[in-house]
Amino acid sequence: MKKKPLTALITLAAIAAAATPLALSVYLARQEAIRATKDLAFSYAADVLARSEAVTDQIDVAIKRLAAAGAQDPCSAGSQALMKQIDLSSSYIQSIGYIAGNRLICSSLGSEIGGLELGPVDMVRPSGVKLRLNVEFPFARGSKFLAVERDGFVAIIHKDLPIDTTTHVSGVVLATVAYPEARVLTSRGVVEAKWATAVVAESRTFLDRDHVVAVAAPRRYYIGAVCALPVAELDKRIHALSLVMIPVGLLASMALAWAFLQLAKRRTALPAIIRCALREREFFLEYQPLVELSTGRWVGAEALIRWRRMKGEIMKPDIFIPVAEESGLIREVSQYVVDQIAAEAKELFRRFPDFHIGINLAAADLHDESTVLMLRKLAAAIGARHHCIMVEATERSFTNHGLASAVIAQLRAEGFPVAIDDFGTGYSSLSYLEKVRFDYLKIDKSFVDTINTGAATSEVILHIMEMAKSLRIEMIAEGVETEVQAQFLRERGVQYGQGWLFGKPMRFEDLMRALEASRPGMPGGPSNV
Ligand code: C2E
Ligand code: CA
Ligand code: CA
Repeated sequence: MKKKPLTALITLAAIAAAATPLALSVYLARQEAIRATKDLAFSYAADVLARSEAVTDQIDVAIKRLAAAGAQDPCSAGSQALMKQIDLSSSYIQSIGYIAGNRLICSSLGSEIGGLELGPVDMVRPSGVKLRLNVEFPFARGSKFLAVERDGFVAIIHKDLPIDTTTHVSGVVLATVAYPEARVLTSRGVVEAKWATAVVAESRTFLDRDHVVAVAAPRRYYIGAVCALPVAELDKRIHALSLVMIPVGLLASMALAWAFLQLAKRRTALPAIIRCALREREFFLEYQPLVELSTGRWVGAEALIRWRRMKGEIMKPDIFIPVAEESGLIREVSQYVVDQIAAEAKELFRRFPDFHIGINLAAADLHDESTVLMLRKLAAAIGARHHCIMVEATERSFTNHGLASAVIAQLRAEGFPVAIDDFGTGYSSLSYLEKVRFDYLKIDKSFVDTINTGAATSEVILHIMEMAKSLRIEMIAEGVETEVQAQFLRERGVQYGQGWLFGKPMRFEDLMRALEASRPGMPGGPSNV
């Protein structure tokens, strides 16, 4: 990629990365404000519900007492005395009396107010209770009362009582609502019809254009409560929270942008550092044994590159190999690996002529015919037969089928075995398997990891094995870490394994030492390493 578009892309990505925490803080401030406002609205609705239940409880007890005492004559002197006593001792009941039709016959208001007209019943509740919602008395003009009638007795309460909740929000709307009729019984402020119909069996909170609404569902009586807070209350909270969260988001954004630019700088600088490291010979190899699963014998080893930076830290190939590939340095890296093997492996093939070394090649290597020459020279330099130098090619190499398959065919024709590496993890289609022949298929660690996990993906490895068998390709399982995995693979006919269970990648001297100990002087000796 040319420098300019790359810089533009990095800048764009940095801006995108930086914008994320800021956008997130704005979003979170809003979400948190909505949650807190909904909670507040619900606490008010719950309070209104509790008050209306307390009122109903008190009325219930009072009417039961009167019904018991005044069964014979509900307006007897004794009964009227009881009415007065109930009136005085009740916190919610303003008055209580006996009613016939719509007329109050006698009540705690005194005998002089007998015969007062209360007006028609507005609604009959499922419990049989009759409600008059807007009763007015000539001696208390301007005040509205609620009359609750049952069994001939009627309790009068002030309409404001159930909603007389202390709130600190101006413009709050509170209401008690009859369920299931969705009819407003008492209210403060204007109750919208859809809030009343929201009174159902479940409590809930929601945003409704200009209000944050909470609905407390009916519990012991067929009465629910509604609270609606004006959206100004929400805006106030969003503003307050934004003042705290947006600076934090801004800081995080700046930190992220900085980190991103550092990373981008490092990434663009990395090719130059790799070039320098090749010159300074900072790379070295480790070899990881490959075992025959049926015998446990070490039959070969994969060469894995390592990079010790100047400060002594080891950088993983996962990081620098892709960079070397992108920046066109991979050919030099591969040559370096081959040179390193040439320098240290001579003794290996003199002592163990059947052993093999696996070399990881990149797409660029497989698109270049000179790779064949490079391996030919290596084999000659270390005195190894061609079948002892195995090439590992990943699926990624096959994005340009034609070229890679020609080089692979030539390598195989000259006796170098070729393994398809990281099988199943690539993005390329499997069609190359029909066009290119391989000698080995390396089952990726991610599939070995699923063995005996019961995961749905654990089926995949079985399909891979079937495919390898039908194509008559020998299998090498990578990343084998447990005996259970080894047993599973062995039982299903996987020929070779590689992984920490058998041996971690090690320096060349350690590989030699382990081989010497296991098969002293014997080419292709015993199996007990
Ligand atoms: P790979 O070819 O799939 O190599 C196997 C990786 O798995 C190695 O990581 C190895 O250390 C690790 N491994 C082996 N057994 C186990 C195990 O039982 N458990 C776990 N957790 N890991 C295990 P490493 O050495 O970091 O190499 C990573 C990748 O870098 C390699 O994957 C290969 O794609 C690439 N690479 C390494 N050396 C070279 C090289 O010389 N040339 C090229 N082109 N690529 C290389
Ligand atoms: Ca490999
Ligand atoms: Ca692999």
